[in-house]
Amino acid sequence: MVTATQREEGTWYECEKCGLLFDDREDAAQHEENCDTDSPSYLQ
Ligand SMILES: [Zn+2]
Repeated sequence: MVTATQREEGTWYECEKCGLLFDDREDAAQHEENCDTDSPSYLQ
């Protein structure tokens, strides 16, 4: 479940699994569906 986060810049959407922030709810939801916390290669 994507979490909405209020920031100065506006509302961000946070992936519950890895904490990655998105400025678009759809992007966040799509990421979260494919999020694999066992191999967060995009965090390197
Ligand atoms: Zn994620």
